[in-house]
Amino acid sequence: MSDIRHDRVHGTHVIIAPERLHRPHCYGVEAKEETAKEHCPFCEGNESMTPPEIFAIREQGSLPNKKGWKTRVVPNLYKAVQIEAPYEHHYGFFERWEGFGAHELIIDTPEHHTSITQWSESDVVQWLQTLRARVADLRKDERIAYISLFKNEGSEAGASQQHCHTQLIGLPIVPKLLKERYQRSFTYYKQNACALLESEIEQEEASSERIVATHGAFTAYCPYASAYPFEVIISSKKALGQIDTLHDETIAEVAPLLLLILKNMGKQLGCFTFNLSISTPPLQSRAFEYDILTHTDEICRFAIRIMPRLYHLAGFEVTTGININPVAPEYAAKLLRESNDG
Ligand SMILES: [Zn+2]
Ligand SMILES: [Zn+2]
Repeated sequence: MSDIRHDRVHGTHVIIAPERLHRPHCYGVEAKEETAKEHCPFCEGNESMTPPEIFAIREQGSLPNKKGWKTRVVPNLYKAVQIEAPYEHHYGFFERWEGFGAHELIIDTPEHHTSITQWSESDVVQWLQTLRARVADLRKDERIAYISLFKNEGSEAGASQQHCHTQLIGLPIVPKLLKERYQRSFTYYKQNACALLESEIEQEEASSERIVATHGAFTAYCPYASAYPFEVIISSKKALGQIDTLHDETIAEVAPLLLLILKNMGKQLGCFTFNLSISTPPLQSRAFEYDILTHTDEICRFAIRIMPRLYHLAGFEVTTGININPVAPEYAAKLLRESNDG
């Protein structure tokens, strides 16, 4: 059982999770790829190697925990938090929550793809539909205050399984970083009657040097203050809802753009590792001192952030929260644009 501990000095939370100790080690190199497929718990045909599924997109007539799926969601075996834990907040100088929360693993494709760059467009569409279904479902649980949705690709980025997967962690608290982010978005919206990301994209489009590509309502750009080399954000000026409310047409619009960006990154960077996060809406008003829930869609834009991990973060980054990025986003955007048609 884990603990969500409050760090008074840094104003953050830490999850103490002894179960994570048993996590399989990074596979590292391609030499093990052959054996990996046979013993891969995420490949189609190996359904019995995972805990029973919570959700799946399946061919009609196929049975749960059997072949015939497109995406599968299972509880994470190496949980950071668990839904069975008591929903309990303990006060005092050393303040903590019981390790309550959701920790789910989304198996992105039935095939043994090890990179999102190998996916088809319909793979991306079904993946986004799966995330939409899971967040929409967990949003009904009032105990969950925040949901983190992310992918780690490559061992450098922290992936311990090669087969493409996504993680969902739902927590009883809103992490400091996100609380501050919502607060900024809220304040900006109140002062400018416009979403912060909408303004950012407008400004980026005005100069266009950091724009990589657009598709439908979506724009992919290397943000002005990119924290990572070749960082890309995909978002829209228009309010199109959040991950749990996106329309199918919106998903169909963003999917090819995401695939294009990742393929361009692959061309420019070769074999690369990255973290990818999907912005998630605030879930509970009681976590904020202001009313954000009634205006979530106006204030917050659905966004995908891709953070290539080409360099290790070291002492300076860890102690100050200031990343040193050796690649100017203007240059990164130029290189990524040049790959658009090649
Ligand atoms: Zn596999
Ligand atoms: Zn595929």
